[in-house]
Amino acid sequence: MDVYFYTKLVFKDMAVLKISKNISFKEGTHSDTATRRRMKNEPNEDQLKAMKTVAKKVFEPLRENFGEPIRVNSFFRSIALNKAIGGSRTSQHCAGEAIDIDATNGITNKKLFDYIKKNLDFDQLIWEFGTDKNPDWIHVSYKSTKENRNRVLKAVAEGNPVYEVIEGGKEVAEPEVDISKKKSRKGTVTVKTYLNVRKKPTKDAKVVGKLENAKKVKIISEEPGWYQIKSDKQSGWVSADYIKLKSTKPTSDPEL
Ligand SMILES: [Zn+2]
Repeated sequence: MDVYFYTKLVFKDMAVLKISKNISFKEGTHSDTATRRRMKNEPNEDQLKAMKTVAKKVFEPLRENFGEPIRVNSFFRSIALNKAIGGSRTSQHCAGEAIDIDATNGITNKKLFDYIKKNLDFDQLIWEFGTDKNPDWIHVSYKSTKENRNRVLKAVAEGNPVYEVIEGGKEVAEPEVDISKKKSRKGTVTVKTYLNVRKKPTKDAKVVGKLENAKKVKIISEEPGWYQIKSDKQSGWVSADYIKLKSTKPTSDPEL
């Protein structure tokens, strides 16, 4: 059987393309998940244009000011990729309008965050989890001067909603629930006896399983008062009152 080798010129060309002075096309479209699943993650013309604007208006001024490399955790995500990693359908990453960044070389994420907040124009700036002193990473989006809301948000691990507005924007709208923190949320069952696992998030729904006290569960989604959980072989809905949430640092996957 013959084996054919192809040289994918198209990808070679992509590799030398640049989004901006300090962001290569490869960095702007990289995703471990996409690589692992062999998913295509390429922006179209409009999305590429949006990425260039974000880079020009936010990333490069920041990079210039601090004079140190800034890690691009996640920039463009195709709808399929965003879905695969549990991001929201309305994520600005899908439009090429948002970037997730991480400071390097002794600069803290807080410093980047404060600089953006004070000096740059942006649509949404999100302090992503971490502590009060430093976020785990920063999400920042840019649309256009006219539409930018200059909205500052903080993602909180145990909050519901996940995002808190920490400074009023010009527009009162639901924040972009960028990344579903829910995906990586974990909890512990805290009951005296056992906790019923139900088929649906209602009190009279069919019981499909039972969980013992101190059992660790993974929270997949939620409804008011209810969590959809997974634990070993069990899955279903449980009352949120009996689940103690664990505040986990969502650093396992920088795309979260
Ligand atoms: Zn983001």
